[in-house]
Amino acid sequence: MSIKRFIAGAICPKCSAMDRLKAWQEDGYQHRECVECGFTDSMSLEMPEELPTRVNQTEADPKDAIQVVKILQ
Ligand SMILES: [Zn+2]
Repeated sequence: MSIKRFIAGAICPKCSAMDRLKAWQEDGYQHRECVECGFTDSMSLEMPEELPTRVNQTEADPKDAIQVVKILQ
C-alpha cells in the first residue's frame, strides 16, 4: 500500500504545472508523477554506502589462508 500525496508548491519539470505532482514511496524509491502531463520519475531512498575500505585486506586473504594451512599441517 502506498499513499500518493500532492506536493504543495512543487513544479513539474516537464510541463511546469504547479501543484500537479503527486509523490509516494514504494519499494525503497521515492516516486513522483505529474497528473497534468504524465511525467514520472523516481529516486532511491537508500543512503549511499560508505566507500569500501577492505580492498587491500581482501587481496591479502589468499596468502593468509596458505599460512594457516601450513601451520595446521
Ligand atoms: Zn507535468
